[in-house]
Amino acid sequence: MLFFIDSEEDFNKVFHGGLADYAQKLKQNGDIGHIGFSSHKPDIAAKVVQTGLAEVMMFSINLAFDLCPPDKYILDTLTDGWQKDEFRGLDPQRAALYTLCEQKGIGISVMKTLGAGKLISAEHTPFSKPMSVNQCIHYALSRPSVFSTLVGSQTADEVNESLSYLEAGDTDKDYTPFLGELNNDFAGNCVYCSHCQPCPVDIDIATVNKYLDIARLDKKNIPPSVSSHYRSLKHSGSACIACGSCENRCPFGVPIIKNMTEAAELFEK
Ligand code: SF4
Ligand code: SF4
Repeated sequence: MLFFIDSEEDFNKVFHGGLADYAQKLKQNGDIGHIGFSSHKPDIAAKVVQTGLAEVMMFSINLAFDLCPPDKYILDTLTDGWQKDEFRGLDPQRAALYTLCEQKGIGISVMKTLGAGKLISAEHTPFSKPMSVNQCIHYALSRPSVFSTLVGSQTADEVNESLSYLEAGDTDKDYTPFLGELNNDFAGNCVYCSHCQPCPVDIDIATVNKYLDIARLDKKNIPPSVSSHYRSLKHSGSACIACGSCENRCPFGVPIIKNMTEAAELFEK
């Protein structure tokens, strides 16, 4: 794992200072199985992803980090606190990084799931009330390409609180009320919250939207892995009967019926 690549200087040290070559050599010799890296900066992380060196990325993801303005170094917010009135919508650079990882087949392991505990603290939360551990975990796990999320625990009770996610219901995990508090610009953009379920024909709408967002990055070159994931869905966009019940439930005005049609056109023709 190449840790903490957060600046151009870090990037140059790794990729032009011999470390990347050394890691590749270790892998070729069978001394290590895989190469990963960690970062807290979406622009630098995307640059590393584009090199094709890494197979896994550790990245700090939580709702407040994703809502911070693009010019903010998110680790500063852990000492300075969050300015809720700066929150406008999910940072497009961070959202693009997650879809880029999905496009390139790079798994994301999430750090700072609870924002160093600040998101679940009444004193430090930027929202009207603390998020629950389940809501934080669910937010992280519902980002594209995320396969695991790390939650720091100091006591057995805290471990049990995190494990309760495995049995939590949709209402306990729902993080959308926090998005609803903001002066934001989510209109029309899917945040993969699954608030729109159930669908009478069992389409996993958030997942179809996730694959569609990746395909939209470059419609002529949709990664085969993404097409194959889409085709393995039990019920895909073409199954939509345009009943509209999902659109009534979506808090963010996503044109779901239109999206299902577009997904069917892109993936099923
Ligand atoms: S369509 Fe709306 S409700 Fe459904 S997952 Fe996307 S944002 Fe959430
Ligand atoms: S409009 Fe389509 S996607 Fe939405 S609930 Fe109805 S069938 Fe499912």
